[in-house]
Amino acid sequence: MELIKLEKVTKKYKLGEEITFALDNVSLKVNEGEILVILGPSGSGKTTLLNCMSGLEKVTTGKILYENKDIAKYSDSKITKFRKKNIGFIFQTYNLLENLTVYENVLVGANLGKNKTSVMDIIETVGLKRHKDKYMHQLSGGEQQRVSIARAIAKNSKVMFCDEPTGALDEKTGKKVLEALVEINKKYRTTMIIITHNPGIQYIGDRVVRMNSGKIISDTINKERMEAKDIPWG
Ligand code: ADP
Repeated sequence: MELIKLEKVTKKYKLGEEITFALDNVSLKVNEGEILVILGPSGSGKTTLLNCMSGLEKVTTGKILYENKDIAKYSDSKITKFRKKNIGFIFQTYNLLENLTVYENVLVGANLGKNKTSVMDIIETVGLKRHKDKYMHQLSGGEQQRVSIARAIAKNSKVMFCDEPTGALDEKTGKKVLEALVEINKKYRTTMIIITHNPGIQYIGDRVVRMNSGKIISDTINKERMEAKDIPWG
């Protein structure tokens, strides 16, 4: 079943005299429960696509339909409510709360959603048990990223947007994080949209979309998903 549908989405940025079409007439469907991997070189429009799809940024023209409702038309307060209810983000150090410990940050996620899995189990899954009482500034970039993943898992939203979820991680930790994402997808049928420039990650997806210069240049289905531990890295 179709969950998200983008119709002719354009996003234009103006910097002085220069105009960039970060998204140039993009149409795309996302099915409920699938893992969609979006690949493309730096500057191809991946982050802009993710920000527009999740309602973090306004589109210039076009529609972003969730179950046929156009969220591009929502007011700021309505879109904030919509995001809170339906969407989880895994961004590099996205909105981590500096004055809270690892445990407390993940608890915030759990309180936002309805995941009954214990916060400690989730912290263990992402390999941070040892660090559970540390504050954000006491963690490395990769560890902070894992806190943001744990928090998104605890929130257990319907759709999860991941921007380079393994960007700051080494191969071993990166694959562990991907395994955790796949497990969440299987367990809860969470729709996952992962953007990355690491081509190996395409093999864990059900579908792969390639971008270049603000356009979708291919959209293919993987016959089978590969296990995260078996994918080539980098
Ligand atoms: P990617 O995530 O694939 O690296 P982006 O979506 O970040 O690509 O960027 C796509 C294009 O839009 C790039 O040319 C970038 O410079 C431009 N761009 C992105 N954000 C802005 C902004 N806030 N202002 C002006 N140009 C932007």
